[in-house]
Amino acid sequence: MKFTELGLSDPILDAIDLQGYDEPSPIQAKAIPHVIEGKDVMAAAQTGTGKTAGFTLPILHRLSNTPKPSGKGNQARALVLTPTRELAAQVAASVETYGQNLKIKSAVVFGGVKINPQMQKLRGGIDVLIATPGRLLDLHSQNAVQFDQLEVLVLDEADRMLDMGFIHDIRRIIKLLPKKRQTLLFSATFSNEIRELAKSIVYKPVEVSVSPPNSTVDSVKQSLIAVEKSDKTRVLTRLIIENDWFQVLVFSRTKHGANRLAKQLIAKGVEASAIHGNKSQGARTKALAEFKAGKVRVLVATDIAARGIDIDQLPFVVNFDLPQVAEDYVHRIGRTGRAGASGEAISLVGHDEFKLLTAIERLIKKEVPRVHLEGYQPLNDLPLSKGDFRETKPKKPHKKKQASKQSGQIDRSNSRGQNSKNQNTKGQGSRNRNSSNQNKGDGSAKTKSQNESVKDSSSENRSRPNQKTKPSKSKKDYSSRPQRPGRNARRVKQSENRSKNTIG
Ligand code: AMP
Repeated sequence: MKFTELGLSDPILDAIDLQGYDEPSPIQAKAIPHVIEGKDVMAAAQTGTGKTAGFTLPILHRLSNTPKPSGKGNQARALVLTPTRELAAQVAASVETYGQNLKIKSAVVFGGVKINPQMQKLRGGIDVLIATPGRLLDLHSQNAVQFDQLEVLVLDEADRMLDMGFIHDIRRIIKLLPKKRQTLLFSATFSNEIRELAKSIVYKPVEVSVSPPNSTVDSVKQSLIAVEKSDKTRVLTRLIIENDWFQVLVFSRTKHGANRLAKQLIAKGVEASAIHGNKSQGARTKALAEFKAGKVRVLVATDIAARGIDIDQLPFVVNFDLPQVAEDYVHRIGRTGRAGASGEAISLVGHDEFKLLTAIERLIKKEVPRVHLEGYQPLNDLPLSKGDFRETKPKKPHKKKQASKQSGQIDRSNSRGQNSKNQNTKGQGSRNRNSSNQNKGDGSAKTKSQNESVKDSSSENRSRPNQKTKPSKSKKDYSSRPQRPGRNARRVKQSENRSKNTIG
């Protein structure tokens, strides 16, 4: 498909051309026509799928093709709500880029910086306002912005907004908006909470989805190294230096940990800086700009701070600590492999993080291949995960244990071996400093393998087949349940794999 087939106006197509995009990404191809039509849209799209352009392009098209309402005051025509300041800045940059040939006035407002310049920008009204919820409410309470003529509302990364506790702010904002408006809801996943929120804010939405919920981006090569907690800094430094990694985004669970790690890396001669919520907005912007410009080799970030980071072809993401919430793993690794580019995500996993790892593997429904760092052996083994990554897990039979053991046995050890085969990041992963920023704009969206689907929930009318005979509980067939190899067999397999998969 071509951008010209989506119904976008010429000035917008020219701006897209300048970005060097070859074709719309799947989310763009599916969402843009509905948004142009004026429909409400609920879009499930992972980070890095091109979702920002998915709503920005058609909104710009609509706003520039309809006359500005003749009203006085500081009216906003389109409002984009984002969970973080960085993401707000990122969306604002996209609006500027794609709207460069249009007479569209846009502004971005978020906390942590002076409010007065933001009030000035809003004077006389604004076409597209990008905002974080708290600062928007502040501005509204001071009459700096009004919403009587609001045409479009976008909730970007709605799942994250709920995670961050913005639900009350969002509900307060919604009450300030006209009931008759277009609403677009973008979220990595459609959890029950998101659907609950959607009920009260979208009207007969078209649902667009380009990937199954919580699946990890195919183009990201994932692996993990079992390490002792106390060795993590040493292992990370070694990986960066020996493999000559550049532009490495490292996730730390805590702000304090992020600061400490950045200092330790600097002490070892690796240029690094930290980005997290305790840093001033100025310091966050500076750290991000230096990282993007290639002046800083490693950016250590907490989950929230990293949410808005968009760097073309970010090659490496390292989980220094596994996230407490499994969904954050998907968000983290989505920082690399964006818009079809390849990327690598490596997790340093301590013995004490095994439960978190299991939760992640269950969520992504696959095992993260384990690799071994040459010459390094942790004191404690990292046990193998449970390995049953199917959607629904039948209950364990209590009585018919014997029968189920005899059939349906899956040799998981085989698939495990294949999975992690050749996971040697040395050489493969090594990227040259000078080449790290090349190919900018070559992010042709190759997300074909993603499971694409569009369904109009307004016309949805699912009927269940008549189930006249309900099988009784006792007759359930549990024989297809995969069996795990015994503990000893797993240990043997684990050590076999270790010797196969080495790094460094
Ligand atoms: P997003 O998911 O909106 O954060 O976008 C991820 C990255 O994909 C950004 O760097 C965009 O510039 C880039 N991008 C967006 N649309 C396209 C496209 N159609 N082709 C190639 N890259 C794109």
